[in-house]
Amino acid sequence: MNILIIEDEAEIVRFLSLELQHEGYSVRSCTNGRAGLEEAMTGDFSLILLDVMLPELNGMEVLRRLRKESAVPVILVTARDAVMEKVNGLDIGANDYITKPFHIEELLARIRMVLRTSEPSMPYSPEGTLSIGDLVLTISSRQVTRAGEIIELTKTQYDLLEYLLRNRDIVLTRDQILSHVWGYEYSGNSNVVDVYVRYLRNRIHDSDESKIIETVRGIGYVLRDKTRKE
Ligand code: CA
Repeated sequence: MNILIIEDEAEIVRFLSLELQHEGYSVRSCTNGRAGLEEAMTGDFSLILLDVMLPELNGMEVLRRLRKESAVPVILVTARDAVMEKVNGLDIGANDYITKPFHIEELLARIRMVLRTSEPSMPYSPEGTLSIGDLVLTISSRQVTRAGEIIELTKTQYDLLEYLLRNRDIVLTRDQILSHVWGYEYSGNSNVVDVYVRYLRNRIHDSDESKIIETVRGIGYVLRDKTRKE
């Protein structure tokens, strides 16, 4: 597994390289956004760790340009309290983010999870749509249609649906959903996830016979296409 680190702080690059190599990953690094984007475009990497504050081209711009060509998994490395960065980053296609300063164990866990959940079956298409059955999401305009009819969703309902879709056939825990959709700062009750899933099911007319959002009792939710033939 090759990992590309795009990060301008030499200390962090050295530390991350050592730790990741110790875990058995091959590591390359770039210290500015422009070189990092070029390297990322080679397609040689299983995952990219992308710092947001970078010289020449910032991490958001690197991600935006990269996503036009590639679905390679990206974990954004953001500054503390940069809530908008996290939200925007996920919106433009980051798979996950981690906030500085972080524990290496947390980063390693996130890397494992992103690698696991973004195997080639990941329904990312360069045209920027995600779909399951007759439900279609257009990422750039955040538009949702079912059987050709436009469905209006709130921001949170949309984020929830997109997150479920990007991870189809993978059981997501309430905590995972909370941290991705509501952000790590959210300190409320995880029942909010159940409430929003209920809203979402109503909005997308997710009826019993062909239900795509399944409840996994005691754990969370998974999105599956039951009409698809294996
Ligand atoms: Ca930086």
